[in-house]
Amino acid sequence: MKTIGLLGGMSWESTIGYYRAINQGVKEALGGLHSASIVLVSVDFQPLEELQRAGDWEQITNRLVAAARQVEHGGANMLLICTNTMHKVAPAIEDAIRIPLLHIADATAEVINAAGISRVGLLGTAFTMEQDFYKGRLQEKFAIEVIVPEQSDRELVHGVIYQELCLGRVTDQSRREYLRIIDQLARDGAQAVILGCTEIGLLISQQDTSVKLFDTTAIHARKAVENAL
Ligand code: GLU
Repeated sequence: MKTIGLLGGMSWESTIGYYRAINQGVKEALGGLHSASIVLVSVDFQPLEELQRAGDWEQITNRLVAAARQVEHGGANMLLICTNTMHKVAPAIEDAIRIPLLHIADATAEVINAAGISRVGLLGTAFTMEQDFYKGRLQEKFAIEVIVPEQSDRELVHGVIYQELCLGRVTDQSRREYLRIIDQLARDGAQAVILGCTEIGLLISQQDTSVKLFDTTAIHARKAVENAL
């Protein structure tokens, strides 16, 4: 079994989900007392979130490159960055390490393509919903058309991530709002919706809606297990 490297803590609430899903995946595949071989480097998120707000992506890159090297030196055979948003700096991280990076958008796009879906809605942080590092990759590399909520709904989705989910707060009111936005995306022509932020699975699950969902945390964790075994 290969060792899975996790760059986590962004937020730690979602990194727990990775740890659980990866271990469950290995247990299902191998049975008995088998569990995953994991190297986890978990960063302090507050200063990184401040740098995001300040738009200082160079400083974020420096810090995450250092953390990714720690994962590599810890003996990992692959790296997962446990957040969609921080994939904005994935190319620089990939260049700085020798182990392969399992890109969260690629893992998600492969599953979407396999399902025969070509038009998806995307929920995530404003960075993920509005910038090109994620949407562009889905569109250009995988021919998946991406639609996002309107401005005020994007603000709502973004606010709930940082002010609630990353702090472990899960409320019925935010769940209702997210479900309303998911329904709107479906009405706008999305065949499915990507939960493109690793905390959204804490709030919404497939049983809450008839709209097909792609949870990036679950998909990314499954990809790691496949690669490890
Ligand atoms: N975990 C989140 C994501 O998947 C947001 C936190 C962050 O900004 O990294 O995008």
